[in-house]
Amino acid sequence: MNMKKLIFPILLSSPFLGLAQTAITSTDSNAARVMMGNYDPAGYAATVVINDPLVIAADLRSAISPDSLHKWLDVLGSFHNRNTGSDTMSNVRGIGAARRWIFSKFSEFSARNDNRLIPSYLQFDETICDITRHRNVFAVLPGTDTSDRSVILIEGHMDSRCVGLCDTTCIAKGMEDNGSGTALVMELARVMSKYSFKRTIVFMATTSEEQGLNGANAFAVYAQTHGIKIKGVLNNDVIGGVICGHTSSPPSCPGFKQVDSTQVRLFSFGGFNSFHKGLSRFIKLEYKEMQFPFATVPMTISIMTAEDRTGRGGDHIPFRQKGFVAMRFTSANESGDANVSSTSYVDRQHTSSDSIGVDNDLNGSLDEYYVDFNYLGRNTLINANAAAMMALGPKTPDFTLSATPGTLTVNLTAETGYPQYRVGVRTTTNDWDSVYTFAGGTTTFNVLVPGTGNHIVSVASVDDKGVESLFSKELQTSVVAGFDIVPARKAPIELLQNTPNPADEATMITVLVNGRHTYKEAFLSIKDMNGREVRRMPVSLEEGVNEVIYDHGYNMSGIYIYSLVVDGKVIDSKRMTFTN
Ligand SMILES: [Zn+2]
Repeated sequence: MNMKKLIFPILLSSPFLGLAQTAITSTDSNAARVMMGNYDPAGYAATVVINDPLVIAADLRSAISPDSLHKWLDVLGSFHNRNTGSDTMSNVRGIGAARRWIFSKFSEFSARNDNRLIPSYLQFDETICDITRHRNVFAVLPGTDTSDRSVILIEGHMDSRCVGLCDTTCIAKGMEDNGSGTALVMELARVMSKYSFKRTIVFMATTSEEQGLNGANAFAVYAQTHGIKIKGVLNNDVIGGVICGHTSSPPSCPGFKQVDSTQVRLFSFGGFNSFHKGLSRFIKLEYKEMQFPFATVPMTISIMTAEDRTGRGGDHIPFRQKGFVAMRFTSANESGDANVSSTSYVDRQHTSSDSIGVDNDLNGSLDEYYVDFNYLGRNTLINANAAAMMALGPKTPDFTLSATPGTLTVNLTAETGYPQYRVGVRTTTNDWDSVYTFAGGTTTFNVLVPGTGNHIVSVASVDDKGVESLFSKELQTSVVAGFDIVPARKAPIELLQNTPNPADEATMITVLVNGRHTYKEAFLSIKDMNGREVRRMPVSLEEGVNEVIYDHGYNMSGIYIYSLVVDGKVIDSKRMTFTN
C-alpha cells in the first residue's frame, strides 16, 4: 500500500483518475508491438527451448535465490529515497537512479538469454510531487504463440515514502514496502527469461503507487487504449516481512512481534462470478499441485475476501477497474498500518525505519532482518509457478450448468477439444471444496456432490502436458437451476447466507432482486446478540445479484445477525459467525 487513508476513497471513485495522465508511451517500440501481439515469434526464439511445465516447475525451485533477492534489495536501498518526486538526474540517489539500474539489470538478463527480453519504460506526463514526467520500468518476454495475444503481468511498485507524501530528502529505503516486491519482479525476470512460454510475460516496477496508484493506472490505461489483452495481473506489495508491528490494517496480525514466515495473503475483488478470486484460486491450486509436494518449507496460501486490507489499496486496483483480472500478494504479517500522520505511530511502514534490518549491538553488521529472504524466495516461487502455468496453459472453456439433488451437470459450450477438463466446486468459502478431473472426448460431465446445497461451479481445460487453463466464469446452482433455496414462487427480494461463514474478518452478503423493484432506502443492519447495532450499511439494489462486502474488523469474534431493511421493513435476517 499505500496511500493516505483520507484520499483513498476519493481516488477509487474518481472517474477522472486516468484523464490527468497524458502522453502515455512505451519508450521501446518493439516492447509495445510484442505486448499488442504484432510480431513474429521466430524473431525471439530461444537457442535452447525450455517449455516443459514439469521441467520449468522444478527449475524454478532451484533457480530462485534468496541471496539474489538480498542483493537486489541491498542495491534498491542504496538509492536512499525512491519517492516519486525524488531526483531523476543523479546516478546514485533517487527514483531516476533506481529505475535506470533496474533497466540495466533487465538488459543484462536479456543479454544472457539470446536478447529475448525487451526492456522499456512506460512514460507518462502528470504532475505528481512537482515532477511532470514519470516512468515505470518494464521488460517484455515475447510468447512463442500469438494466437490469443494475451499477456501476463507481474508487477510491484518501486517508489517509497516517509511521513510526507512528497518528502524527497528523508531516508526512505522502503525495503518491505516495496523493495521486496521490486526485488521479486527482478528475480523473476532473471530466472524466467531462459524459458519459452506460449504467452508473453511482462515484468514491471511501477512508480507513484504511494501518491495514488498512478504508475499502475498509466499502464492499465495504456493497455486499454492499445488493445493489450492482459490475462492476469500479479501485484506484489509488502511481500518480504514476517514480523508484526504494533499496528496493521485488518485483516492481519495476531499481535506485536508475532512471526509468520509460512503464510501469504491473496487479495482480490468480488465474490460470485469474480474472475479476480478465480485467479487467486488458480495461483493456490497450481502451487498445491506443482510445488507443495517438493517444498522444504510449505506455504499456506490464504485467499482473502476483501480486495485489500481495510481502508487501503494497491496497484491491482486500477487494472481491475479497467476490466483486467488482477490480484495482490501481501505477506501475512506487517509492521504497521501506514497511519504515519498519527503522532502515536511507531511502526516501520512509510517511515525511515523501513530498512532491510537493524544492527542492535552496533557491531557493524545486521543482527535482525526485517525482510526474510527465504520467505521472499518462497513467495517469488508462488508467483513464478502461477505465471508460468498461465503462460503455458490452454484456453479457458465456457459452459452451462444444471442440477438435480446430488448431481451437477456441466455442459461445455466452447473450447471443447482438450484431452481433460477440471471442474471446481465450492460452497461456503472463497476456495474450492473439490476440483474434479474428467477425461475429454465429451462435452457433458456429471459431478456427484454430497447432499443438496448451494454449489458454485467453474471449469478449466487441461492440455496434453497436464497444464490447466485459468478457470471459467462461475455459475451458482441456486441462481441457475437451484434445488434447495429457490422457493416455488420467488420472493421479490432474497437475502442469502453470507460467504464465507464462519468468516475471519470480512464476508460477502448477497441480495437477490428478482425483477424490477423500486424503493426509497435500503440498508443492511448488523446487530450483536444483545440486539445492539454495530454497523449500518446503505445498499443499492439492482435487478439480479447484489453483493456487499462486510468488513467486520480484526479480532472481533462472535455471532451476529444481519438484516436487510427496505423502506423501513425488515425483509429477512440471518446469522453470521466470526472467528479468529
Ligand atoms: Zn506498497
